Amino acid sequence: MKPLEELTRKNIWSLAPYSSARNEYAGREARVFLDANENPYNQPFNRYPDPLQLELKAALSKVKGVPAENIFLGNGSDEAIDLPYRCFCQPGIDNVVAIEPTYGMYKVCADINDTEYRTVMLDEHYQTTANALLAATDANTKIIWLCTPNNPTGNCLNRDEVIKVIEGFEGIVIVDEAYSDFSTQKPLRSELGKYPNLIVLNTMSKAWGCAAIRLGMAFASKEIISIFNKVKYPYNVNQLTQQQALEALKDPYEVDNWVKILLQERTRMMDAFALLPICEKVYPTEANFFLARMTDATKIYNYLVDKGIIVRNRHRVQLCQNCLRVTIGTKTENSELIAALRQY
Ligand SMILES: *Cc1c(COP(=O)(O)O)cnc(C)c1O
Repeated sequence: MKPLEELTRKNIWSLAPYSSARNEYAGREARVFLDANENPYNQPFNRYPDPLQLELKAALSKVKGVPAENIFLGNGSDEAIDLPYRCFCQPGIDNVVAIEPTYGMYKVCADINDTEYRTVMLDEHYQTTANALLAATDANTKIIWLCTPNNPTGNCLNRDEVIKVIEGFEGIVIVDEAYSDFSTQKPLRSELGKYPNLIVLNTMSKAWGCAAIRLGMAFASKEIISIFNKVKYPYNVNQLTQQQALEALKDPYEVDNWVKILLQERTRMMDAFALLPICEKVYPTEANFFLARMTDATKIYNYLVDKGIIVRNRHRVQLCQNCLRVTIGTKTENSELIAALRQY
């Protein structure tokens, strides 16, 4: 890995971050807070939240097996996807490399941050190699984006190749594991200690059932986390989100139970799709959704919309011609979808 200072934009490396009232006062017991121009009335909403979310990070640390100092929390993964561009990529000069097809936000954030977005097309099994990814890099490549299990394809990338990318690349490798709770592959966040250039993304939006509260996380070295903390908005994770996340984390067994049911339903749905005359192929998946190649994805999509059932039409995505991406819902919702498709 190149030294972090070399990978970081100069203005960010030398940035003196905003120091909030709650940053300057740290530790020691206090009773009277007259430092932040808050209104003393309207509890519990009147106070600014903890800018570093220490209580929440302590709870997450236990569940995820990652030390709190290696955790960054953001307003959804969206924030953790945007921040690396703002920290590492000099607009108009630097570039990133990503697999294609994959989650759309990596490219949107590249465009917003005026950063060239280079793609490496997956093969027909939705796999790629470390060599192909590394061949797409040059001296100005700051980040390689990987997503496993990948969205919208659903499959995991070959783990040995992912490791080869992390070991072979001089810059930052970001592995988005938004769906790892549904996967049998060992999560990479457990390998953080070995790889100073690795950032792993997780989210509360999928297995944890908390998409509404907007909480995403990045796991990385202390040094990378402290750069993120410098650049983020001071109070980027609001108090209601922190409270609700703490509440959800009290019951990880409920999540395990949801995942178990969703995986059973996934098998049932994939089997049912495979038997539909209008379904040509069901792709293997390790996520809470699957991709299915249909005879005419757009027509079938519109037919379902008319019935009030919405799936994701991925027909226009490269390598996903005539594919629908189907999220696993409740048993009732899933049965409704299958019944509608049988009537098509
Ligand atoms: C859904 C999803 C996320 C989650 O994004 P949030 O902003 O945390 O809701 C992240 N990455 C991928 C690949 C996703 O599909």
